[in-house]
Amino acid sequence: MSLVNIKMFPASYGDSFLVTCYGKEKTHILIDMGFKSTYDNCIKKEIQKINECGETISLLVFTHIDEDHILGGIKFLEENKDEKIVKIQEIWHNSLKHIKKDYGISKIQDTKQKSLPAEKEISKIIMKGHEKERGVREISEISYLQGSTLSGLLYQNGYSKKWNSSYNHQAIVVEQSPKGLKSIFINDKVKITLLSPDNKDLNNLYQVWNEEICKWNGMNEISENLEDEAFEIYISRQIELRKKKRTVSGVSGKLNNIEEVANQNFDADTSPKNGSSIAFILEYESKKILFLSDSHSATIEKNLKKIQRYPHEKLYFDAIKISHHGSKHNTSKSLLNLIESKKYLISTNGMKKNHPDFETFCRIISNDKNKKKKIFFNYKPKIYSEINLDALKKEFNYEILYTNDPKEGTSYEITNIEI
Ligand SMILES: [Zn+2]
Repeated sequence: MSLVNIKMFPASYGDSFLVTCYGKEKTHILIDMGFKSTYDNCIKKEIQKINECGETISLLVFTHIDEDHILGGIKFLEENKDEKIVKIQEIWHNSLKHIKKDYGISKIQDTKQKSLPAEKEISKIIMKGHEKERGVREISEISYLQGSTLSGLLYQNGYSKKWNSSYNHQAIVVEQSPKGLKSIFINDKVKITLLSPDNKDLNNLYQVWNEEICKWNGMNEISENLEDEAFEIYISRQIELRKKKRTVSGVSGKLNNIEEVANQNFDADTSPKNGSSIAFILEYESKKILFLSDSHSATIEKNLKKIQRYPHEKLYFDAIKISHHGSKHNTSKSLLNLIESKKYLISTNGMKKNHPDFETFCRIISNDKNKKKKIFFNYKPKIYSEINLDALKKEFNYEILYTNDPKEGTSYEITNIEI
């Protein structure tokens, strides 16, 4: 019997994973919640089952402030008032307040600074709701998000005490002790070792986040009354900027030689938002799983090296959730040189930036070419015809599995991975 089950939800071009560790008691950890449709069609039923069995969610992680990881969570928090859907023991989310250097020091708020026009603007943003999931027709969204923001819901629904509590209510950030990286025990069996973000990643996010809000508000410094809505303001600014500047996503290289593609120069993701992703190793009994969210390769490499027992040790994981929906900017060859697995997970329907990239796929399959590996997709990948070739599968020892193909009428099947 397996020790761990991972449910990879069909989260459109986003992420949502439910990890269940089987023991005398089950431990459930929910990592990101995709979009509203992910919650309505899939996550809700699964967490209701948890509640019906008298179980709870030990940890809910919002890895970073990107709508494709959070919007389903906002709908959930609205509905989970008095924890009627499920009880949550702890929530991880780095809000703007958490990443401010002086977080935790009580400050007297100068109410004179309260800017009324800003408040009006905030309510307009909230009434408008968040960005809609691309490719989804939503008929009426009036009740959705009315008067509720991510931070507001966490406060109102009594989560203040459970918010980043393992980190003393401070930011979730990699901490190092003389013995190596600090680990958190969710209970006496489940251990989490953080690999991202580092302090510098949070500082970078703070800079851009702060800058965007100041631009939006026409101020030089962010006023405290805007901090709680910072996520919504940031997202709203991103939507405006995106409308102004329509970028055409580059088509991935499609050379015939897999290793040639895999060895092409690595152009690293520099987005501070992705760099602030909470990424970690989850350990239960003998099992180790690597959850990389949308993290930057360099941060993960740097921190994995701190847990190597000897130089060049190849770290084995029972499963690896590939970073940033398989983007070629987030999985470097040098990262893959440090790790190995038989199971790789890629979450995306390809509606954004044409993820996953062919380059990432080439890097994964050429890593330990002779060892068998399975690559799990929650949707049929756009590169399917390039990668579903018998000769390639034989040469590089891989299998590809996908769960949903909207063209064949499947969109809301959950991908189950037994570990
Ligand atoms: Zn993402």
